[in-house]
Amino acid sequence: FTGKTGNELLADKLKKITVAEYQSIPIVIKENDSVYDAISTMFLEDVGTLFVIDEAALLTGVVSRKDLLRASLGNQDLASLPVNIIMTRMPNVAICKKDDYLLDAASKLIEKQIDGLPVVDQTPEGLQVVGRITKSNMTKALVELAGNRRR
Ligand code: ADP
Repeated sequence: FTGKTGNELLADKLKKITVAEYQSIPIVIKENDSVYDAISTMFLEDVGTLFVIDEAALLTGVVSRKDLLRASLGNQDLASLPVNIIMTRMPNVAICKKDDYLLDAASKLIEKQIDGLPVVDQTPEGLQVVGRITKSNMTKALVELAGNRRR
């Protein structure tokens, strides 16, 4: 028996959770897709963040709801405005890997004041998008952790 308190055990458990255990499926769009396409995809897929990829399927940027709202204000022709004009682009995109600790991903969300991170796999060609971690995943982890503790 280690003599650890309930809180210490809970903290130990929390610190060991990885991104892979809570990640969701990433929703991606192509760089040349229009802002109009991005808005449609966001509604259809019910996500708040889209990851932007190039022809080789490598990560080049991120578009959020506010990016799309900003681009829509006073812009008549959203169907001919490519998302790569308005996205947050690499190397300014905050990322995580599947083996990272979920807590470290949570810290990045807070630090950068963003809703989500792409989960990436580093290949010789570039970053492949393999998942998505958002505040919703964090909430799920929190609830599950509390549930386990009560049992
Ligand atoms: P919303 O616009 O829905 O409030 P965010 O708070 O996530 O969503 O986005 C705020 C800004 O941060 C946007 O300009 C967006 O492009 C950018 N952003 C979103 N996710 C990331 C990320 N992982 N790395 C860097 N910038 C990001």
